[in-house]
Amino acid sequence: MELRYEIRRSTKRKKLTITVERDRSVVVHAPSNVPEGAIRQLVDKKRSWLFEKLHHEQKYQPLPHPPGKELVNGEAALYLGRSYRIELVDGENATIHFAGKFLIPRAHARQRWQVLRQWYVERAREKILPRVRSHANSLGVEFEQANINDSRYRWGSCTPRNNLNFNWRLIKAPMFVIDYVIVHELAHLIEANHAPRFWNIVRAQLPAMERARDWLRDNGQRLEEEV
Ligand SMILES: [Zn+2]
Repeated sequence: MELRYEIRRSTKRKKLTITVERDRSVVVHAPSNVPEGAIRQLVDKKRSWLFEKLHHEQKYQPLPHPPGKELVNGEAALYLGRSYRIELVDGENATIHFAGKFLIPRAHARQRWQVLRQWYVERAREKILPRVRSHANSLGVEFEQANINDSRYRWGSCTPRNNLNFNWRLIKAPMFVIDYVIVHELAHLIEANHAPRFWNIVRAQLPAMERARDWLRDNGQRLEEEV
């Protein structure tokens, strides 16, 4: 079994622990000075326990399905938490035009999913990355780089080198949900674990934290399915 895991280091950690998050990601919490080899050994030792946890269907969210639907005139697609109609339009336009609805050139009928997806990725870069910087400023934390990525399993992540990644599908969610995912990852730069202190940091920055978590729990699958 190929096991991917994330390492979160903290000077306050005394020993290695492994957790499986709700989205099935595996996180190893480690003291700052433990070598990667020792972490790999622990993960190897826990392999069958992890395998069982990761395949427990009820407790963890099902893996998202790849989209199978055809995009047709009159269908809708999400953007910043709202649903907008899709219209296939004639003309020479080379790309998607958004004006209260998605106007997609008929010439792109075949690759429309890719075109719409590319549009989402561009909007994600444009809208999400500046907010990462401004939230980092008001939290007083520093990060190396923030990127938009194409993870199937996570909305956001934070690497041991303080690089932050955000799933492009987030751009379909309302801004307060995007802010929550940003602040969640930034708060991990202060507190590695989901301890009470961690949630206090997130809540202080984002009073709508609970509402955002609920929204993601109830609608996360929608962000995965459409487009
Ligand atoms: Zn977290």
